[in-house]
Amino acid sequence: MMDIATPSRTKEIIKKHGFSFKKSLGQNFLVDMNIMRRIVQSAELDDKTGALEIGPGIGALTEQLAREAGKVTAVEIDQRLIPILGEVMEPYANVSVVNNDVLKVNLSALFEEQFSGMEKVSVVANLPYYVTTPIMMKLLEERLPLKNIVVMIQKEVAERMAASPGSKDYGSLTVAVQYYSEPEIVCTVPHTVFIPQPNVESAVIRLKVRENPPVQVNDEKLFFDVVQASFAQRRKTLWNNLKARYGAEAGIEGLQGALETTGIDPKRRGETLSLEEFARLSDAIGSLIK
Ligand code: SAM
Repeated sequence: MMDIATPSRTKEIIKKHGFSFKKSLGQNFLVDMNIMRRIVQSAELDDKTGALEIGPGIGALTEQLAREAGKVTAVEIDQRLIPILGEVMEPYANVSVVNNDVLKVNLSALFEEQFSGMEKVSVVANLPYYVTTPIMMKLLEERLPLKNIVVMIQKEVAERMAASPGSKDYGSLTVAVQYYSEPEIVCTVPHTVFIPQPNVESAVIRLKVRENPPVQVNDEKLFFDVVQASFAQRRKTLWNNLKARYGAEAGIEGLQGALETTGIDPKRRGETLSLEEFARLSDAIGSLIK
């Protein structure tokens, strides 16, 4: 059978089922087998590995995953796609489709139900761009037993996830993603390989999920709060941002003293701090406001 990820087969399936694209659901289907192969290879699948796909569409990626992974579970929000997926996935006994909004799914329960026989699980998806960040944060924060997350996302967002301190792309998303994983951009992807074409460029990014965070902090919630506060106004110094957020609670002098103990120059901008420096800073602030 011809691959779905080609313009002719995709158009044929869409026509047969009278399917119309919903822009509001981020429906841009990949029709390029070279990019498809890059995605699947980066996920390092085998028959002991499960693949969770988010947003299978008409199954272009799903069928490739079914050939490489032990088990594939695909969560699709659009109920109009469920009968189409039922038909195209008929030859693959190792594929399950769940009709739900991935943001509403209890993923640990889903993992137990779907991947009990698997040694490990990776997420592989061409994500709907309007919900990239909430989906990624859900996958990372729920501390699921994941190996890799290989996703096609908007190029700018991929660059923010993989950024280094001091660069314009470095921000709270970078710190959050790098706290839980090691990101690596696999390739950038032109908008011409989708039907319909999105208005933005895309990139495939692979996140190797960490077993342990790269820095130790006393209070994880406070760590992320300090990160948010430090980037609240990007043009302001670290000191001005911290003062605005913690000044009243911690007292100006206390805050000054805490910052001094970390050895971090208060005139720096949040975007220059490494994860290790944010960790030191949040522990120092934590000792003041507890
Ligand atoms: N996997 C297909 C491909 O590569 O051609 C389709 C990818 S398309 C960019 C995104 C898919 O995600 C669509 O099928 C859309 O209906 C689905 N989707 C959008 N929001 C979703 C959500 N919250 N939960 C699950 N699926 C969603």
